[in-house]
Amino acid sequence: MIRMRRVTKVYKGNVYALEEVTLDIERGEFTFLVGPSGSGKSTFIKLLIKEEVPTAGQIYIADTNINQMRKWKVPYLRRKIGCVFQDFKLLPHKTVYQNVAYAMEVTGKSHRVAEQQVPEVLKLVGLGHKLDAFPDELSGGEQQRVAIARAFINRPPILLADEPTGNVDPSLAEGIVRLLEKINSAGTTVIMATHDKQIVNAFRKRVIALENGRIIRDQDRGVYGYE
Ligand code: ADP
Repeated sequence: MIRMRRVTKVYKGNVYALEEVTLDIERGEFTFLVGPSGSGKSTFIKLLIKEEVPTAGQIYIADTNINQMRKWKVPYLRRKIGCVFQDFKLLPHKTVYQNVAYAMEVTGKSHRVAEQQVPEVLKLVGLGHKLDAFPDELSGGEQQRVAIARAFINRPPILLADEPTGNVDPSLAEGIVRLLEKINSAGTTVIMATHDKQIVNAFRKRVIALENGRIIRDQDRGVYGYE
């Protein structure tokens, strides 16, 4: 599903954010991407959605080399990849329903289809009773659930989550990851960047550990670190 071959990203100032990263992530996997702040996790995610381009190396998504992808095709790539961020990125003047419906309508789906599917997805994330609430009326955990519903509404084959529990009360963080697990069990490949040691150790998924832009460990059913 995702193949990286000797991917290197150098930012201005000769900062090596990723260096010679080679890996395969299969369809349907759930992978934690761990490492301290500055280790390259966000860069990894940005490269997959072509928000950044690699300095060297190749990236394939579903057998397509995205380096060679024409600009006009990038929006189609992004439709295949749902994204969830630490700061939720919800539209503050739209309701919960509208935030999710909007993501559906920009892909050309009709209001009628949205009316049917949006409440269903919001029910899946446990917010079937909050359709008309505005983001600032919700807790951090609830806002992140809306963001997950929005990322999942078009049933993308891949879901990327960059520190999704970073702004969520620790007691609710596990619920967020359980939800990503549920989405994963429906067939979506999930990659979650995190430095939440407790979460990683509790879920025992594949762990890819980055340090200074290099993969230092890649382990099935892994833990955050050995210390
Ligand atoms: P993480 O998500 O693990 O915190 P990042 O991918 O954000 O790591 O950053 C990796 C390295 O690249 C850091 O040293 C960071 O300062 C640097 N970096 C990230 N984005 C940029 C940028 N746009 N310009 C220059 N340096 C950057």
